[in-house]
Amino acid sequence: MTDQPIRTVAFIGLGKMGRPMAANLAKAGFSLRVMDRSAEAVRGFLAVSSASAFETPREAAAGSQALITMLPTGRDVREVLLGRGPDDPAAARKGLRPGSLVIDMSSSAPLLTRDTGQHLATGGIAMLDAPVSGGVPRARDGTLAIMVGGEWSAIERARPVLAALGSKIFVIGPLGSGHAMKALNNYVSAAGLVAAAEALLIGQRFGLDPAIMTDVLNASTGRNNSTENKLKQHILSGAFASGFSVDLMTKDLSTAVELAKDLGVPMPLAEPCAHLWQAASAQLGPGVDHTEIYRFLEHLKES
Ligand code: NAD
Repeated sequence: MTDQPIRTVAFIGLGKMGRPMAANLAKAGFSLRVMDRSAEAVRGFLAVSSASAFETPREAAAGSQALITMLPTGRDVREVLLGRGPDDPAAARKGLRPGSLVIDMSSSAPLLTRDTGQHLATGGIAMLDAPVSGGVPRARDGTLAIMVGGEWSAIERARPVLAALGSKIFVIGPLGSGHAMKALNNYVSAAGLVAAAEALLIGQRFGLDPAIMTDVLNASTGRNNSTENKLKQHILSGAFASGFSVDLMTKDLSTAVELAKDLGVPMPLAEPCAHLWQAASAQLGPGVDHTEIYRFLEHLKES
């Protein structure tokens, strides 16, 4: 790996999270090379930030010292980095030089990440997993929590890039550790949201005011991120616009459950929780905000 500081960053995936994150890199003075398969996402980004845009991952990667992926799943990340087949000319790795660094900031599956990292390593390219938490508001503010996995030297090299995106950088362990941590975080978050939503539905049937219930939860031991940041803001208001979709949350729960299965750890709560989110995701449809799990629960039939 070269010791030169990173100045030129390729950024692939300008969605709800990637767009504000890439904008913060531009603001911090990095020279940006962006790519997204959605022309609309690229246009939207270029309207507010300065960057060079490219048609393929390979073109975006060429000339960059670091490449960031912010894509829906680890499978998307793998396709962008390694291509659809070994000879795919559009693959990012064909544009990356030995000594360059790939940072996957998506919430991907840890074992898939390790395998992708091994493929990149054969070309002298280091990989970090650096998934984030905090959602769109903290992506905008550059105050994300970032959980990083990978080799120490690569992490140190990536620090100035990560510092432009987040305010808390946790070094978790070897490659894949960040993705394992992120899936487990989102399991806890998803379970907390379901518990809070169920409590509101039961309380209302009893005649309790859901706004007062939320105030009580937030002053009591039932408080969690969802009671603080989702119940009033996105559920009781009817906005349902947190910026995180139900299908992405469901993917994270599947990742957590697969990890537990691989490791042989019993999961009496995680598995039914994942099934509930799968059912909600199937009914609500892709792209729908994850806070709409409340509407799904509201319409469940009594058994
Ligand atoms: P999104 O669906 O809004 O954006 C994904 C972007 O990737 C889209 O612009 C899409 O066009 C692009 N894309 C998909 N496949 C591509 C490909 N093969 N080549 C090029 N571009 C491609 O998703 P998001 O909400 O920004 O989430 C991105 C990642 O971050 C996910 O892994 C998600 O789980 C994670 N995450 C999201 C949030 C959130 O609040 N939205 C918070 C933390 C982590």
